[in-house]
Amino acid sequence: MKSFDGHNDLLARLWLSEHPDPVGMFLKGQLPGHLDFARCQQAQFAGGLFAIFVPPFDYVKNNHPYKLRKSAQAGFDTQDIHHIVFTQLDYIKQIASRSDRRIQICLSVEDIQFCLQQDIMAVVIHLEGAEVLDSEFGVLEQLHARGLRSIGPLWNLPNQFGHGLQASFPHSPDTGLGLTDQGKALIQLCSEKRIMIDVSHMNEKAFWDTAKISELPLIATHSNVHQLCPQPRNLTDAQLEAIQASQGCVGVNFDTAFLRPDGQRNAATSLDLILEHIEYLMHKLGEDQVAFGSDFDGGFISDHLKDVTGLIHLQQAFERRGYSQALQEKLCHQNWLSALQRVWHPAC
Ligand SMILES: [Zn+2]
Repeated sequence: MKSFDGHNDLLARLWLSEHPDPVGMFLKGQLPGHLDFARCQQAQFAGGLFAIFVPPFDYVKNNHPYKLRKSAQAGFDTQDIHHIVFTQLDYIKQIASRSDRRIQICLSVEDIQFCLQQDIMAVVIHLEGAEVLDSEFGVLEQLHARGLRSIGPLWNLPNQFGHGLQASFPHSPDTGLGLTDQGKALIQLCSEKRIMIDVSHMNEKAFWDTAKISELPLIATHSNVHQLCPQPRNLTDAQLEAIQASQGCVGVNFDTAFLRPDGQRNAATSLDLILEHIEYLMHKLGEDQVAFGSDFDGGFISDHLKDVTGLIHLQQAFERRGYSQALQEKLCHQNWLSALQRVWHPAC
């Protein structure tokens, strides 16, 4: 069955690659990691939200120092951030343009539906962490004009839009102050332009600030249930109720640290834990507002799933648990299409 997914970090992985042509490696099916085109096709991975992400400076410095300018010591400056974001945007454009029409950037649910029917991989461009945006939002206009349709204003570190989410397991999502005035202005603008707002990395105050300002459904592209795994990034019952009431959606994260009650990265983690989070979410949200948010190429994935090809094992687990075909279709792709429809094209 075809799967449409709420979150992957392929583009950051391509940017971190030392290979001179990482896009070619992806298209030829030779890329290490959780995703390449050959494995996506094998797994009926029909597409999803592809995140543009500026990795933390210290992570790059310690693990991929060849990506830094010689003069860069303490952090990325505005020019660096701009360069990283637009390089990743260029990668996704190249992936589509060099794919022989087998991969397409989608701007509407109609586009995604067309891709699903034609066996074309559907790409929605997402920005995870919005520090590239200027206070006048000119860069947002540029990115939107080039296909951006979804933004998570914050990743875990503080930026001009909010105070981030820095707390170690176990912890409630209440980790400090919420959105800044600029953050509130960004939410207002995205709500007006109907650019999807991702609450996945928001702390609790930023989540409630967003809920108050935005008229769009609340979407968590890759987060799980706090009651089952008390990561600060997982969602409390009160947050799930707000998401339910807003007609939003939660994409279940496959990273074992967001699934397990002990918050560990553990390769032996059973796939049944993913089903436990799905079932809890369906209990709170109903079966129309739960979907996938794999975190492929960004998260720590169990050996039982391994990579994108493991989606077939997840579907086998659905079968064993007796999920109907109709329910599997909703979880695997239909719920994302309906959620994006409600965000981007509300009924007049
Ligand atoms: Zn993330």
